Amino acid sequence: MKQEICMVTNRQEYGNGLFALTLHAPNIAAEAKCGQFVHITCGEGNLLRRPISICDVEGETLKIVFQVKGEGTKWLSRRSAKHTVDVLGPLGHGFDLNALGERPVMIGGGIGVPPMLYTMKNAKANSASPTAILGFRNKDAVILTEDFEKVGDTHICTDDGSFGTHGFVTNVLEQHISKFTGICACGPKLMLKAIAQLAEKAGLPCQVSMEERMGCGIGACLVCACELKLRDGEQGVRYGHVCKDGPVFDAKEVVW
Ligand SMILES: Cc1cc2nc3c(=O)[nH]c(=O)nc-3n(C[C@H](O)[C@H](O)[C@H](O)COP(=O)(O)OP(=O)(O)OC[C@H]3O[C@@H](n4cnc5c(N)ncnc54)[C@H](O)[C@@H]3O)c2cc1C
Repeated sequence: MKQEICMVTNRQEYGNGLFALTLHAPNIAAEAKCGQFVHITCGEGNLLRRPISICDVEGETLKIVFQVKGEGTKWLSRRSAKHTVDVLGPLGHGFDLNALGERPVMIGGGIGVPPMLYTMKNAKANSASPTAILGFRNKDAVILTEDFEKVGDTHICTDDGSFGTHGFVTNVLEQHISKFTGICACGPKLMLKAIAQLAEKAGLPCQVSMEERMGCGIGACLVCACELKLRDGEQGVRYGHVCKDGPVFDAKEVVW
């Protein structure tokens, strides 16, 4: 884990409160693995950091894509080229692509789409043939699809049918599930739960990236605790930290 004061090298506004920043972060970029996140100080004199997933890594730069939610992300959205940001990372436990076979499918829903890009690129670099299934609310929320299409087969769906297939990512997954050897996913918890059920039915390994409100980002506080099943089939639950044990978990471990 490194802390870097990073120059913003590019800022992109997609509309609907969605932004992308490219950060010059040579030390973090050198260590970043797919599914990991960075923790960014969002505000002057503000010690609170905000977790944002790594969307892509190119050379010494990191790309992050985020939705403005509150004060922190609003501040971040106002950073532009020549501003700096204080970044800690890479943090957390990312996707284990070796466990997902030769034909993994990367599923993203809404703001869960960005981390699947670097994941898909990594899968391809590992000689796998990855497919993406990306779901958005409507056509105005659609982002990054051309980047995914450059890497492999990409299915796009929208809840209202205004772009791509009309329906949810789970409809597309169900249709094509026999083609895949493993699943990884990031998005709303209900979507992840439905994907985990389909994976279990099909007997496929499945890893999910969970999002919880986060405090310290390094496992020192309990803000992002999540319930997990005990290992070896024992009854009861244990608690994991999304920031340290996750954000990626085996779907079979999660108490849905
Ligand atoms: C591991 C991880 C990776 C993430 N990656 C991304 C990403 O790539 N892009 C992105 O846009 N966002 C991502 N998030 C969510 C992002 O961290 C929050 O939206 C951000 O912290 C909100 O900060 P804020 O100061 O703008 O809003 P706040 O004022 O802190 O909160 C505004 C509203 O957002 C809600 N909120 C805050 N954090 C979360 C959360 N984690 N989950 C659900 N609701 C929340 C609050 O309850 C409140 O209603 C990620 C979160 C985690 C835990």
